Amino acid sequence: MRLVLVGPPGAGKGTQAEQMAKRLDVPHISTGDLFRANLRDETELGREAKRYMDAGDLVPDEVTVGMVRDRLGDADTGGGFILDGFPRNVAQAGSLSEILSDKGLELDAVVQFDVDDEVVVQRLLGRGRSDDNEDTIRNRQRVYREETAPLLDHYRDRLVTIDAVGEIDEITDRVFSALHNRNG
Ligand code: AMP
Repeated sequence: MRLVLVGPPGAGKGTQAEQMAKRLDVPHISTGDLFRANLRDETELGREAKRYMDAGDLVPDEVTVGMVRDRLGDADTGGGFILDGFPRNVAQAGSLSEILSDKGLELDAVVQFDVDDEVVVQRLLGRGRSDDNEDTIRNRQRVYREETAPLLDHYRDRLVTIDAVGEIDEITDRVFSALHNRNG
């Protein structure tokens, strides 16, 4: 299955992506993780991305899309993938559909993790990542509302919405039963 996960920062996308990737035996591709790995390794791409990440802004599309195109060229994505944190705006969604259609592929579904803004601020503050201070969090939420949320309408014909409040396993079960019901 080729899936995209969408949800506000702190909705638990990363955790769910991992669980789903394990069950489906496909790679979990997190653009945030890829950027953080580049920061750690002090690559050119990491240097370009850093100031945007520190501010909670989106890294420019050409940088992000290039990184994703490379990753989707890897052989392990042949049986599907779970994209976590990409696309983050409608332009990236367009680039993704081009990358896939070049391979004769398309997305199976887009899973939206639905959770209240205020609930997640506390969760994020507890997580302790360097971009998890309150100002950056508020900015990431604004970016989500303004740039990422329009994807929900863009993908409405393949959107599966999940209530993302609950126990981890319970939410994973919700995702799979929703995907199952959708695929008949
Ligand atoms: P995340 O781990 O998904 O919260 O991403 C951390 C940071 O990486 C974001 O705040 C952005 O600065 C950057 N980032 C991750 N994914 C993307 C994307 N698809 N487009 C642009 N920037 C991204």
